[in-house]
Amino acid sequence: MIIVMESRATQEDVQNVLERIEKLGLKPHLSRGTERTIIGVIGDERLINREQLSLLPHVENVIPVLKPYKLASREFQPANSIVDVAGVKVGGEEVVIMAGPCSVESEDQLMSTAQAVKSAGATLLRGGAYKPRTSPYAFQGLGEDGLKILAKAREATGLGIVTEVMESSEVELVAEYADLLQVGARNMQNTKLLRSLSKLAKPVLLKRNFSATLNEFLMSAEYLLSGGNSRVILCERGIRTFVEYSRNTLDLNIVPAVKLLSHLPIIVDPSHGTGRHDLILPMSRAAIAAGADGLIIEVHPRPDEAYSDGDQSLTPATFRELMSDVGKISRAVGRRLKVTP
Ligand code: PEP
Ligand code: MN
Repeated sequence: MIIVMESRATQEDVQNVLERIEKLGLKPHLSRGTERTIIGVIGDERLINREQLSLLPHVENVIPVLKPYKLASREFQPANSIVDVAGVKVGGEEVVIMAGPCSVESEDQLMSTAQAVKSAGATLLRGGAYKPRTSPYAFQGLGEDGLKILAKAREATGLGIVTEVMESSEVELVAEYADLLQVGARNMQNTKLLRSLSKLAKPVLLKRNFSATLNEFLMSAEYLLSGGNSRVILCERGIRTFVEYSRNTLDLNIVPAVKLLSHLPIIVDPSHGTGRHDLILPMSRAAIAAGADGLIIEVHPRPDEAYSDGDQSLTPATFRELMSDVGKISRAVGRRLKVTP
């Protein structure tokens, strides 16, 4: 249920509605826009008498929400959410590029990648310290040592850090180092992890599972929002289909679909979405043209020596080309590419 207050509603009118909702044992979520205050109600809607509520002073409308997600919906918040990640705003007019290696391998490798992506204009640095690998025999990441290397790279470059957290027991530790905590595709429905992250005062990058529907994706975001963390960025990273020429199929349809249904920002990961370095550039252009708020790109100084995902990593030189192309597309669709000064 969503309650829209009239623009002339006072603080007291809003308080009146909040108290009424709480008295019923339901949880109100307040969203104050520039024009209107909107109150989302979480809980069993059958407890609410719509007519009674709409008679309270300066209540404009009481709308039942039929969608299973509420706080993530455009009805709840008509204006786009802008998520601040270490001073970089995601979801606004500027297109934001996050780049870096799939895995943190060594200080040398990360530092040289960080410098390269920064000089090409990237504004956030990605790198996995905890890696969700398909094979238990594959490189599993450097763990906390990797986080320490990421922190050093932030110190050296000023770039905010994006890194994955795989377990709720590790949320606190990863949050000490990360500016944006990534939930990987395999963990999109790990509700325990989502609940832990919902209590955090740091933003979350929620990657879509390769078989998740749009509804399931937004319901996972709802876990974060309903637990109290409103700083959520969605990420499309490719889904499983019958095609065999690419690792996944990048579902760009979901970008405008999310924009219609939700206020949350969405970025695209064409590295995992294609699995092929030679498809990343064209699909990056397409993602921005489709309305994505940014990209997350794997870059490695020597992709042929990468411990993971070398096939889908750009060299620093190709990444520069990508930045230039994405800058042009951003302008063509009425946006600007955010670049490091
Ligand atoms: C990654 O970003 O390195 C990663 C493992 O991504 P995904 O969870 O989308 O597979
Ligand atoms: Mn990867």
